[in-house]
Amino acid sequence: MYSWLQRSLQQLYQRAAQHKLHHALLLKGLKGIGKSDFAEQLGRYLLCSNKQVVAQTEAAPCGHCQSCLLLNAGNHPDLYEIRSEKQIGVDAIREAIKKLTGSSQLSGAKVLVIHDAHTMTESSANALLKTLEEPTNNTFLLLLSDQTERLLPTILSRCEKVALPSPTKQACIDWLNQQGYQNVDEAMLRLYGASPLLLVERLVTPPKISYQDVARGIESLQAGSADPADLATKWQEDAINMVKWLQIWLLEKLKKGPNHPESLWQMHKLCVSANEQLRNPGVNKTLVLVNILQSMVK
Ligand SMILES: [Zn+2]
Repeated sequence: MYSWLQRSLQQLYQRAAQHKLHHALLLKGLKGIGKSDFAEQLGRYLLCSNKQVVAQTEAAPCGHCQSCLLLNAGNHPDLYEIRSEKQIGVDAIREAIKKLTGSSQLSGAKVLVIHDAHTMTESSANALLKTLEEPTNNTFLLLLSDQTERLLPTILSRCEKVALPSPTKQACIDWLNQQGYQNVDEAMLRLYGASPLLLVERLVTPPKISYQDVARGIESLQAGSADPADLATKWQEDAINMVKWLQIWLLEKLKKGPNHPESLWQMHKLCVSANEQLRNPGVNKTLVLVNILQSMVK
């Protein structure tokens, strides 16, 4: 397990070993910190029929029981997962609940993992409520989310929230080095340092528009040789990242000296509110970006 998640995992292992773990957990944390791997490990432990509790900090699945072997082979009959890129429909939830109400195939625990739980539709969430409240015996529901504010209050109130931490900058650098990534660009580290798995994804497939592109864009904007609407149109495809790049650019400026700090802070505020707006799926991204870029010209 990733070093930054090790402690949280051990805490849940210990509670599971003592039968003190809540049956519905909401594992929340930023995108790209390893929540799926965390849930997989926790699921392994819950399903293992020979849980090892060596010491306070060294609990682990045994690795040899039938459950562990089936998990290694990737086909455990009592582990269910729901994942969806965009939306989790009610059928997927109903199907999973049906499986959970049956008895466990290996007469142990049953585990349902719901990735990106915030993508459940309202009817999906409602279909899940009863199971969240009164699950069948020895059943665990692990909900994962990086946007818990999008979950219905009725879901939130029925889960125990477990906040998973992001790594420190140094832990992130150490991990990247272990993965074979040396000398990672400082701008990339600042943008994705709290989400190392996402950072690796971005290193493998670099964003189409780099931080340097954005910095150059702003310079031309301020020199009068570029137009806010043109840049916004060009950048809207990756709008969320663009706003983050802009924020990094602003913070660099603020660090450098007393160059109209008040107006820079204003822009920073615009960026913060843009981040909020861009979470809304129907938003006009170009318009949001134009708004910030225009303030940079003034
Ligand atoms: Zn085992």
